[in-house]
Amino acid sequence: EDDVPHVFVVFGASGDLAKKKIYPTLWWLYKDGLLPKQTYFVGYARSDLSVQAVRDKSTQYMKLQDDEKDKFEEFWKYNYYVKGSYTERTDFEHLNQEINTLPKGDLAHRLFYLALPPTVFKDVSSNIRLCCMGHDGLEESTGSGGWSRIIVEKPFGHDSESSDDLSQHLSKLFREDQIYRIDHYLGKEMVQNLMVLRFGNKMFSPLWNRDHVQCVVITFKEPFGTMGRGGYFDESGIIRDVMQNHLMQILSLVAMEKPASTSAEDIRDEKVKVLKCMPPLDLDNVVVGQYTGDPEGQGDAKNGYLDDPTVPKGSVTPTFATAVVFVKTERWDGVPFIMKCGKALNERKAEVRIQFKDVPGDIFGGQCKRNELVIRVQPQEAVYCKMMVKAPGMNINPEESELDLSYGARYKGVKMPDAYERLILDVFCGAQLHFVRSDELREAWRIFTPLLHKLEKEKIKPAPYKYGSRGPQESDDLARRFGFIFSGTYKWTKPQL
Ligand code: NAP
Ligand code: NAP
Repeated sequence: EDDVPHVFVVFGASGDLAKKKIYPTLWWLYKDGLLPKQTYFVGYARSDLSVQAVRDKSTQYMKLQDDEKDKFEEFWKYNYYVKGSYTERTDFEHLNQEINTLPKGDLAHRLFYLALPPTVFKDVSSNIRLCCMGHDGLEESTGSGGWSRIIVEKPFGHDSESSDDLSQHLSKLFREDQIYRIDHYLGKEMVQNLMVLRFGNKMFSPLWNRDHVQCVVITFKEPFGTMGRGGYFDESGIIRDVMQNHLMQILSLVAMEKPASTSAEDIRDEKVKVLKCMPPLDLDNVVVGQYTGDPEGQGDAKNGYLDDPTVPKGSVTPTFATAVVFVKTERWDGVPFIMKCGKALNERKAEVRIQFKDVPGDIFGGQCKRNELVIRVQPQEAVYCKMMVKAPGMNINPEESELDLSYGARYKGVKMPDAYERLILDVFCGAQLHFVRSDELREAWRIFTPLLHKLEKEKIKPAPYKYGSRGPQESDDLARRFGFIFSGTYKWTKPQL
């Protein structure tokens, strides 16, 4: 097994994702010695390029250190580039011949990364199946080498119908265990940490339910707008771009029951059960927003979404959304899960916030604020619990404070791998835990499709909010309506490191 080579094929090697993410990630994995010995990299696209051209485009994203120069040269020696179309079978036969001419290439394990626009997913996957599969083809791996795995990037369709169509197409060509659907949030440290926090501690589990939790807020905020690239964004909007995938994945990890084991299938079985217990989104529980320019802002902040020349005139595509959803299980019935995401906001952050109920039988004259457990996904990973303590000193009043686990301080010098590093390595290892299964995808689209169609059919106007703000006021009103309380009294002092 050890001497079977691996071949990693990047379709769309000329593109943006390839140069910014995939090639840098392959380099980092290579230089850290994490890839199997004898791994070859083959770029494929229609453009007339060479390995040198791919190298020139991606080097600036690779954070190359001075003492890595030799290794870097070595890395590129394992690289190849093949020019070809996405539609012609003969071009894929040619690609297959190129793979076969690598040392023991005919026996190689093959990984196919589709870094391509979704318009060519179907052609490319069909042609891979026809011409480029490893030794084992569709059979179960015999251990004698030659498996094939295919990696797909979002968007996985545009709504239920288009997503089902793509899923059915892929399932005719590949087994589910050969398909790796990337949701890079599943590669983040704190998202993976949810499993251990929840099921490796006694202290959280008794509280993790409708008896104690007032609401759960899952937030994604970006401090910049579309920066002139709104044309692409406008076809999807923030709900498809962030909420239907990344935030729903986090939600299912927060809400799921304890899986039978940590195996990929046991965990994904539990995640999909959460989604099955969620009714479709109701427009009454949703606020959509679109940013406007801030005349007092600097540079790009002066421009609203509609000022981006690539955005269609009068577009009603949301750049912000807050949606309240319910998980109708015995554990969660009635507890609002508030998902919130937006562009051009006041800060960059992604977090899960669990707000607990008020303490019953208050003896402190209403001075106590609700406990919150916050899992900060980015930036500056942290887990903190907002809690009441006696104000230190000659005083007996309660005061807000926290139990604080800041990763930067607690794990100084520990290298946190990038999400793509973990995920691409998982594909080499055949670990599907952090990838989206087709039934999860189908359920997520079932929950979102009616709302998305309604927004589009009725051209529902998003609420305006100013670039650099926290989003539209309507969003805070919605959260308050579902019982979230912001007291505005919590002050945090960053500990001296
Ligand atoms: P891209 O640069 O627009 O496209 C990648 C390559 O595909 C291009 O270099 C081009 O190669 C080929 N291509 C472009 N348009 C085509 C068309 N209409 N028909 C046939 N081929 C076409 O895309 P990308 O930004 O790398 O993204 C690739 C995939 O990853 C997409 O599905 C995207 O949604 C997803 N994604 C991207 C990012 C990101 O940061 N860029 C993040 C998350 C997900 P040739 O002309 O040389 O063949
Ligand atoms: P907070 O300031 O009390 O904010 C909590 C929540 O209230 C956020 O979800 C926020 O929503 C919302 N909110 C803010 N202003 C509001 C308003 N005017 N109306 C309605 N809702 C509002 O507490 P915090 O965010 O937990 O902590 C404060 C700061 O301390 C943060 O910057 C936090 O990162 C920092 N801190 C860091 C650590 C650490 O790194 N270890 C530990 C503790 C605290 P949005 O998300 O939409 O803004």
